Amino acid sequence: MIDTMLKSIRPKTYNWSNWAGNVSCSCEQIFYPHTEAQIVEIVQLAAQMGKKIRVVGEGHSFSNLVQTDAFMVSLRAYNGLLAVDKDNKTATIKAGTSIKKANAMLFEQGLAMINLGDIDVQSVAGATATGTHGTGLSFGNVSSEMVSFRIVTADAQILNCSARENAVLFEAGRVALGLLGIITQITFRVDEAYKLEYISSSADFSETVQNIEQLNHKNRNFEFYYFPYSDKVQLKKSNKTDKAVRYNKFLAYINDVIIENVAMQTICSIAMRFPTWFKGVNRFMANNFTKETKINYSHQIYATVRNVKFKEMEYNIPIEHFEKCIKALKELIEEKEYYIFFPVECRFVKADNIWLSPAYQRDSAYIAVHAYSTAPHQPYFDDVEALFCSFQGRPHWGKMHTRKANYLANVYPKWQDFLDLRAQYDPNCMFVNPYLSHMFGL
Ligand SMILES: Cc1cc2nc3c(=O)[nH]c(=O)nc-3n(C[C@H](O)[C@H](O)[C@H](O)COP(=O)(O)OP(=O)(O)OC[C@H]3O[C@@H](n4cnc5c(N)ncnc54)[C@H](O)[C@@H]3O)c2cc1C
Repeated sequence: MIDTMLKSIRPKTYNWSNWAGNVSCSCEQIFYPHTEAQIVEIVQLAAQMGKKIRVVGEGHSFSNLVQTDAFMVSLRAYNGLLAVDKDNKTATIKAGTSIKKANAMLFEQGLAMINLGDIDVQSVAGATATGTHGTGLSFGNVSSEMVSFRIVTADAQILNCSARENAVLFEAGRVALGLLGIITQITFRVDEAYKLEYISSSADFSETVQNIEQLNHKNRNFEFYYFPYSDKVQLKKSNKTDKAVRYNKFLAYINDVIIENVAMQTICSIAMRFPTWFKGVNRFMANNFTKETKINYSHQIYATVRNVKFKEMEYNIPIEHFEKCIKALKELIEEKEYYIFFPVECRFVKADNIWLSPAYQRDSAYIAVHAYSTAPHQPYFDDVEALFCSFQGRPHWGKMHTRKANYLANVYPKWQDFLDLRAQYDPNCMFVNPYLSHMFGL
């Protein structure tokens, strides 16, 4: 069986890099299993040969989670909808399915994901493994909508995990960075297909920050972009509606692809060519972003197109510290005059009970900072990270950060429990790479 599977492996050198282009590796093999049985065989093969495995989703993490010189496993060929239960509103999806494909298949069944982030190209397992989130204080991250999952562990066993079966593994395994094994399928809580009315508008920074509680309370999904070196923000609000779809494919292309991406690319190129203009560039964006209203089915509203390559760091802050933290960030940017020309993104997420979820047991604000792919980011990210950590910040696992076990153990109450569980299920560190080993102190 293994021989048959090996024949299906692409016969070439196995170079891999992530979406942002800041992480790459050459690995011994990239496996593309088509069945769960093949996934088991890959784990058996790795155990026999003493090889490490890293599973890759769609490579949309900015951190070195996937990097390996040994076996890489992509579940891209293991995708699709396995079952829906319309009475209980759940859907079971193969782990390699992209969010975009999952959305389309659910929509055909009259169903939809409950809440999502701002792109839809990640795999469902990759997104949940890092605690990917959208915005809206009534919703946890995407992993918090997991009802159960199946996982192939390092001893090549297939385990069903839910609140009733292998409950401890379920608690921890919903955000586990691929450290507990290869997740093969996930059952999500879903909703009946619903429409959202999205409104983008301009507002004053101080007023917005003062009214954060009300803005979150009044809107199903609320977030804002703060434009450095200006006092302006872009408010983004989405609410459920029964109104007719208001969506023009051509206009959407102009807005989402041309304005949001081509114009952004041009702005970045100008800012790189004329470095002294960076403050003006930010103010230009603050005054010229697209103010619009659109009504569509939820998955069409959540997903945006991101063609301009950037680097990103995002931290989770306890919501009660948000106002102080974002004001301090604005002051820091204005004082240090970092050479940046991307807005700061602020989102809000409900607490959950997943051990390594950044929103573990605290309602949270997420603050994300970005730098253009070829622009220097270090001084900005370093200072901002120190600021976030002074508010007990927890890094988004899929984004850039420099935290290690000595810090993380203090902000994650279940840190040691996770380490113990990992050691129990993977004593030989099959699923660990040097980055994770360093971060977790293994
Ligand atoms: C343009 C852009 C926009 C983004 N927007 C958002 C956003 O709105 N909200 C947000 O929270 N994040 C966002 N992210 C971050 C992104 O959602 C996460 O980094 C996510 O993990 C990427 O999913 P992926 O499928 O590409 O997984 P990868 O990056 O390939 O892998 C991520 C992790 O998942 C693990 N994994 C993958 N498959 C499996 C499996 N089958 N079993 C076990 N472990 C597995 C990998 O080992 C790895 O540790 C964005 C990233 C980019 C580049």
